[in-house]
Amino acid sequence: MKKKHPAIGILPRKIYGVMFQKKSEFQKDDCISNAYGGNCKRESTMEAVEGNAIVRCCTSPACKKLAAMIAMQPTILSGKEKTGKKAFLVGTHRHSFRAGKPAEIIGISFVTPKNCNPRPCFKICFGDGKIDDVPLSAVHQEHSHEIISGVDLALGKIPKVNR
Ligand SMILES: [Zn+2]
Repeated sequence: MKKKHPAIGILPRKIYGVMFQKKSEFQKDDCISNAYGGNCKRESTMEAVEGNAIVRCCTSPACKKLAAMIAMQPTILSGKEKTGKKAFLVGTHRHSFRAGKPAEIIGISFVTPKNCNPRPCFKICFGDGKIDDVPLSAVHQEHSHEIISGVDLALGKIPKVNR
């Protein structure tokens, strides 16, 4: 059921599968972008909700994306220090699996494709728990993926899908 709210437009709205709703009473007035080093000066009127994470934001699409991504990575809320030590892989080729969506690098694995030698892969985990293996060569040879830090992720500095 869609319902209109003056400050937040038509609801419900989802980004990356994360639901948005009118901001809760306990939330601060600034936008999450401002809190994470961005320069948004607008007031927060809505919030992204994913599991236990509730992240305030304004109505700008970029800030909503940031709020959605932070909501998907609750560890970011537990401190930028910890987050800074994490690394994320982003598919930048339109044919890469879940292109443009950051996934945390959780390890290195060996995968043996049919009739091939074992190849080293990044083991990655998306916000919804989906695990995938991406060959290391995807970053350094095919350039179909980029590695970003948790700080980049928190600031919304996410590489675009560019080819
Ligand atoms: Zn904002």
